[in-house]
Amino acid sequence: MKALVIDDGKIHREMIGLVLEALEVEVRLVESAEEGLAALAEETFDLISLDLHLPDMDGLEFCRQLRNDEETRLLPIVLLTSEDAGATLKMAYGAGVTEVMRKTSIEELQKAFTFLVNRLRRTCSGRVLYVEDSPTTAQLTISILNEMGLDVDHYSTGEAALKAFVQQDYDAVVTDVVLEGEMSGLNVVRGIRSAAADKREIPVLAVSGHEDLSRRVEILRSGANDYIEKPIVDDEFKARLGNLIINKQLFDQVRSQQDELRKLAVTDQLTGLYNRTYLAETAQKYVSSAIRHRESLSLLMVDLDKFKNINDTHGHAAGDKVLAAIGAMLSSRCREEDVVARFGGEEFIILLPRCDLENAIYKAEHLCRFIRELQPDDLEISASFGVSSIYQGERHIDFEKLLKEADTALYAAKRNGRDRVEVFNEDCMEASA
Ligand code: GH3
Ligand code: MG
Ligand code: MG
Ligand code: MG
Repeated sequence: MKALVIDDGKIHREMIGLVLEALEVEVRLVESAEEGLAALAEETFDLISLDLHLPDMDGLEFCRQLRNDEETRLLPIVLLTSEDAGATLKMAYGAGVTEVMRKTSIEELQKAFTFLVNRLRRTCSGRVLYVEDSPTTAQLTISILNEMGLDVDHYSTGEAALKAFVQQDYDAVVTDVVLEGEMSGLNVVRGIRSAAADKREIPVLAVSGHEDLSRRVEILRSGANDYIEKPIVDDEFKARLGNLIINKQLFDQVRSQQDELRKLAVTDQLTGLYNRTYLAETAQKYVSSAIRHRESLSLLMVDLDKFKNINDTHGHAAGDKVLAAIGAMLSSRCREEDVVARFGGEEFIILLPRCDLENAIYKAEHLCRFIRELQPDDLEISASFGVSSIYQGERHIDFEKLLKEADTALYAAKRNGRDRVEVFNEDCMEASA
């Protein structure tokens, strides 16, 4: 990236030069409007930093001249001023200045230039679905899209485009308003906005002819994010589509960070299993759903036997390794729809949807044996299991109560010698009382 700095004050000129160089922008420093124009005639720049007061020309007049020249019509111009009067600002923007910066402190300038340079540098990447029936327009637009660094899938009918939209992942859609075939651009936008939840929020840029005003309004109402008029102006198209794509990507980034945080909040760090928070948030839903749909649901409460001894003998770190190994084993031996959670210390809860008592006991016996046989780091480990169950949604019970029943059964398993499975029933209730 290359910048032209026009300022008659030596100190300011060099300061701006240093700020830009620190941002890895190549700079050329000149002192007057005349030298500036000469520099612009010699080479192309990506950015101009312009002083409001130049010895040979007013900065605003200089700016107007550049805006009238085809070559520099869209070149970003930053105006530097020590005044911040509203009138100056208004005149500056009227003259075509891109941004006004105050020559107050070097920190302010650094911040403002960093922001601007990053914005100019930001290039896109991604895949665009492009719907256009005119081959000449399509050819031109595809080359602009490729220049932007985007891959393009081009279709000339809405039908074909929507089919591709469902099958592929895109970062943006560009569609002509008027299309050949049954479907118009309007239908394309409507089709997209009524697609599956993970797809329908994609940014859509509509392209319309000058004469299609009512269609343009209609397409915006249907959910297009922006539109651009034909014939397409290269830089305007890039700016509009670039904004849409960058905003979408930033939004996706924020959303995936939120998902990550959410996952972190419900995951036990040591074992990677769900944690107690997750159970508190979701377990009741499993119980309610089983009752509503008249389905069975079982709960296993697992507590490692004499685990304190493991820590005391081999150290807490060894104990942690055992917990992680057991967690991984439990998780691998359960089905996708089962919920395996670390309830606390050396206790685990396993929720088994659509599993009746008989199958739950069978499952618990298996897991009990697997734990016994696992011997992580050659350590003899065993666990006790308490089982409670709802048969075909026949009992009106909440999660708390189901948990309490499993806990009572677990207590019976401990009392009856550990390394075994007990089921909640009248006997264990009496014994625990
Ligand atoms: P019981 O068979 O009656 O369950 O005996 P226990 O020793 O397993 O039961 P107790 O509840 O007395 O002790 C549980 C021990 O589990 C206490 C603690 O040392 C250990 N423990 C709990 N959380 C962790 C943990 O995160 N890491 C490690 N290494 N040990 C833990
Ligand atoms: Mg205990
Ligand atoms: Mg224990
Ligand atoms: Mg315990």
